[in-house]
Amino acid sequence: MKIVCPYTRLQWATELTLRIEEVNTRFVYTGNSDTAYYDLVRELWSQGETFIVVEHDIVIWPGALRVTWECPHPLCVYYAPGPVGVIGLGCVKYGKDLISSFPSHLDNIDPSQRSWRMLDKSLTWDLINKGISFHNHEPMVSHLNPDRYFFEMITKGE
Ligand SMILES: [Zn+2]
Repeated sequence: MKIVCPYTRLQWATELTLRIEEVNTRFVYTGNSDTAYYDLVRELWSQGETFIVVEHDIVIWPGALRVTWECPHPLCVYYAPGPVGVIGLGCVKYGKDLISSFPSHLDNIDPSQRSWRMLDKSLTWDLINKGISFHNHEPMVSHLNPDRYFFEMITKGE
């Protein structure tokens, strides 16, 4: 499986679970510039092969990546809990058929939208506007940071 984990602060539980699931997981530091994450995805896109991106604080359950890797849908996601009342994308599979259908997708992202702060929208959500839908896999994967956030909320409230 071609698994990539872009990180600025890689969580040890994320690293451990990914190394167990796919020993050749590629961990890529993306803290050097605002567009390092974009550059990475653009490189992956240009290779034309299916790949899965797992964020640096996501902990997947055993077998989760294999399920999406083998799924025939072009765009597979696991949601993860986000800040209170919000869910985010924890893990996304970009299938090779999707990439070949939109070979210029990354080139077409406006330079002003290439920062990691805004990339989610252009990279994934804009595909929805092009008629692609997320294939949602369940159960959700785990997200370390919001858990900590909730924990703080609970303890402060007591
Ligand atoms: Zn799927």
